[in-house]
Amino acid sequence: MDIQAASPVADAATWQGKLFDGQWIAAPATLEVIEPGTGKPLHTVGKAGPSEVTAAVTRARAAQRGWAATAPRERAAVFHRAAAILQEHAAAAAALIARETGGILAKGEHEVREAIVLLQRAAAMPLHATGQVLPSVPGRLSLARQLPLGVIGVISPFNFPLVLSLRSVAPALAVGNAVVLKPDPRTPYAGGFVIAEVLAAAGLPEGLLHVLPGGADAGQALVEAPGVPMIAFTGSTAAGRRIGELAGRHLKKVSLELGGKNALIVLDDADLDKAVSAIAFGAYFHQGQICMATGRVLVQRGIAAELTRRLAEKARHLPVGDPATGQVALGPIIDQRQLQNVKDIVDASVAAGAVVEAGGTHEGLFYAPTVLSNVRPGMRAFEEEVFGPVANIIPFDHDEEAIELANATEYGLSAGVISASVGRAMAIGERLHTGLLHINDQTVADEVVNPFGGTGASGNGTSVGGPADWEQYTHWQWVTVKDAVPQYPF
Ligand code: NAD
Repeated sequence: MDIQAASPVADAATWQGKLFDGQWIAAPATLEVIEPGTGKPLHTVGKAGPSEVTAAVTRARAAQRGWAATAPRERAAVFHRAAAILQEHAAAAAALIARETGGILAKGEHEVREAIVLLQRAAAMPLHATGQVLPSVPGRLSLARQLPLGVIGVISPFNFPLVLSLRSVAPALAVGNAVVLKPDPRTPYAGGFVIAEVLAAAGLPEGLLHVLPGGADAGQALVEAPGVPMIAFTGSTAAGRRIGELAGRHLKKVSLELGGKNALIVLDDADLDKAVSAIAFGAYFHQGQICMATGRVLVQRGIAAELTRRLAEKARHLPVGDPATGQVALGPIIDQRQLQNVKDIVDASVAAGAVVEAGGTHEGLFYAPTVLSNVRPGMRAFEEEVFGPVANIIPFDHDEEAIELANATEYGLSAGVISASVGRAMAIGERLHTGLLHINDQTVADEVVNPFGGTGASGNGTSVGGPADWEQYTHWQWVTVKDAVPQYPF
């Protein structure tokens, strides 16, 4: 693609078969990245295993000391420059991200826009005054200050790779840490190499950022590495449980941002056309491969039949295809394994009594936008995260029942309530157990500056983003200062 060749931040020749440790270095093995939209190889990158992780951690530890001692305004300047560089090359980066992830171009552009804001926010962090002067005994100055943790291990998924990696990488570096990043092996450019290119060009000192595409073995080595005091993980609940257990054994701080089964409650006074459009976006954007995707649509019974009819009509008319070749609303599912999971959940739910109102079919990795009605608790479509373009319609009779159904899940990431009465929607929203709540909107939203995260199987708290970041990537140190050593009784 010409646009890529023209841009230094999207030129595969730079990283062909390589890993990043501050420079592009040779790797002991390689990974072929397949473009989901075509099924053809897109590029090849280096593949890291446990020994590359160990070497990266050693280098990162050595580099971190100097970085933590660097003047805050110099650290800030790196992120200001990085934001400008990414802005300059936004079109090329977005195009390659779209191809690697199988997303539509608008989604790639959205990721790049958000990444620029993440870098701008990171630039502001070093110049932010933190810490406190504490009350103490006379003659003693008592301070609480926040210090970087050291080397942060970041493990990220395939679906929104740039944002989900950078939302940890940028603030962690900004407050004085080093980072070893392990992106998903299916999306190493979007989840890592584009960040390496931009930060290296912005003058980030060598050794502070390592990008090591690899599988679970590399991720596990990072979690177990003695020189890594914190892991920031975004991914599935199953992997998050394993990482949480392992981090616990090694007494590490761990941030877990996991899956969701998010409910959108539509009350009987809602504007139906707007509700249908919101549901379609929440359930189908990026083929439903979003942790905040609208996984359950709870509809008040009086409007359920008409809303289902209109949603099915919309689903049948949404264009599906290779995003690189035309204007489509939905692209491919990331790979065959994920596609099979979507099919299995839909088939099992239909066997249990759910009704296919639209879709339920696929051509290759392209799964049609699907509407299932008559979904009930106990069915896989109600209980499990589908991570595919499936809108599951669950009718309810009264507000209390909607609250019960919405909370009848181990997940707690996002929820939405749509109603002409904001008061009624708020009264329901107050009782939903989620980290994110949207009144008169669907469930997919993130503005970078908001605290983000979920409860229960969705993770261990709203621990990423905005006001949460300083707390997340530092530890408190209590410091006291006296004029002279006091005399003790013995
Ligand atoms: P995944 O858990 O399979 O993989 C995520 C990352 O973890 C990858 O880099 C993978 O290589 C690595 N990994 C997997 N097993 C590991 C192990 N045992 N030890 C160390 N590393 C390991 O998830 P996925 O399928 O790529 O992503 C989809 C999931 O991520 C969905 O469940 C989605 O809801 C969730 N997600 C959550 C958020 C959030 O912010 N809460 C955002 C996006 C995606």
